[in-house]
Amino acid sequence: MDHFPIFLSLKGQKVVLVGGGDLAARKLRLLRKADAAVTVIAPSLCPEIQELVAQTEVDHLGRKFLNEDVTGASLVFAATDIEEIDAAVAQAARAKGIKVNAVDRPELSDFIMPAIVDRSPIVIGISSGGSAPILARNLREKIEGMLPPALGRLASFADSFRGAVKGTISRGNERRKFWENFFDGPIAESVLSGREVSARESMLGLINRNWKQENATGHVAIVGAGPGDPDLLTFRAMRFMQQADVVVYDRLISDEILDYVRRDADRIYVGKAPGHHSHTQDEINDILVREARKGLRVVRLKGGDPFVFGRGGEEMDVLKSVGIEVDVVPGITAAVGCAAASGIPLTHREHASMVTFVTGQTGDDMTAADWSSLINSRQTLVFYMGLKNAGQISDRLIKHGQDPKTPIAIIENGTRVDQRVLPGQLFDAAEMVQRHQVTGPSLIVIGSVAAYADTSDLQQITTAALENKNTASFLNEVAVAAQ
Ligand code: SAH
Repeated sequence: MDHFPIFLSLKGQKVVLVGGGDLAARKLRLLRKADAAVTVIAPSLCPEIQELVAQTEVDHLGRKFLNEDVTGASLVFAATDIEEIDAAVAQAARAKGIKVNAVDRPELSDFIMPAIVDRSPIVIGISSGGSAPILARNLREKIEGMLPPALGRLASFADSFRGAVKGTISRGNERRKFWENFFDGPIAESVLSGREVSARESMLGLINRNWKQENATGHVAIVGAGPGDPDLLTFRAMRFMQQADVVVYDRLISDEILDYVRRDADRIYVGKAPGHHSHTQDEINDILVREARKGLRVVRLKGGDPFVFGRGGEEMDVLKSVGIEVDVVPGITAAVGCAAASGIPLTHREHASMVTFVTGQTGDDMTAADWSSLINSRQTLVFYMGLKNAGQISDRLIKHGQDPKTPIAIIENGTRVDQRVLPGQLFDAAEMVQRHQVTGPSLIVIGSVAAYADTSDLQQITTAALENKNTASFLNEVAVAAQ
């Protein structure tokens, strides 16, 4: 973070605002919302500020800025739109150790103003750190549209019951659950739709009910997190992740995705790390049961979809067999995510009328798979976990009659920033894995649709290497890309 977000209490604090034009007027409006004691310094004022000065307790010094004007201020705003004056104001403030914001001049500012969504007491500030203010503004518009106008009323309603809830439910953990249920529940809905009187009655009933009993049993959500790009999470996945008390996750879950889990949820890693003990499925099942039995909301976070090569079915069985409530949240499976991210249509009227997801990890005995059923020129095959066995996969398919020149694409780290799409032909699969040093999670897509693979990211690699001006790595990348 280039800028640290804080919400500052300015009630009654002296704030100096230098400038009398539109820029200053915009700041003045906000500062007045925060009940700051504003002094405006400018020889002349635009009509809006004139009016505010006339109506309210805004002080006005009708002259040019002097260095001593900043004395005693909590904050200083330079909004003259004249660079030398803004710079002088900034310098005077800094000389006294007072934080200053020069409007639209990040280089002169100690702090910047976010785009604001105001549903007081709920206030949302959005910042791009000055790098893309229009993007921040777009986001604000989106959030404005998402949040019910009465959100502020809901927050105030909740606030009016805070003491009562605290007096009745003494344990912090239970109180948090109470409020989570409240904000997701029918009473909150009543407040939002303006039925506050009946909402108050229901609230009293809710507070007096026995909370411990209602929340004694835990719950597990087996959540598909998609192939890696957090943008591909579902709303439902997000909701569960943000309500989790504990999250149990494995290797395919990226840090970017974990960032969306509620901050103070406990994290239990059950994936394999090189040289470390990896949990067996039985151990993972035990952890899920143990955590749920504590009465917690457990999220079992899995890459892709939990029911596609994810052992989600086994976990669900175990939990159900001991009476723990389970929800399964679908995720975008790697094949679907990677296909979209690499321009490969999995089915196509002219090329493929079937698509089959196959595990490339058939244990020691590769002959066990029914290879002949996989041979069909109008079928797309997507091999998961197939890197190590790439050679065997292509050999067997060819042996059973698949054309050795069938187009294939290996997609590594699909949908992530480091995605690579490597096009080739079936006979060459194992060589491709070697040549390109493919080591990340990868799919092998086999069938005529693989010829659609968009390989522009290969170009990006070479461009990136060029920009690095590292000749050795550049030449190496070009050599690899060219093969
Ligand atoms: N349940 C997951 C699959 C888990 S098996 C799903 O539905 O996607 C693990 C295999 O998934 C990996 O070996 C790899 O073949 C594939 N995989 C997962 N994420 C991937 C990604 N981002 N890019 C390419 N392949 C991926």
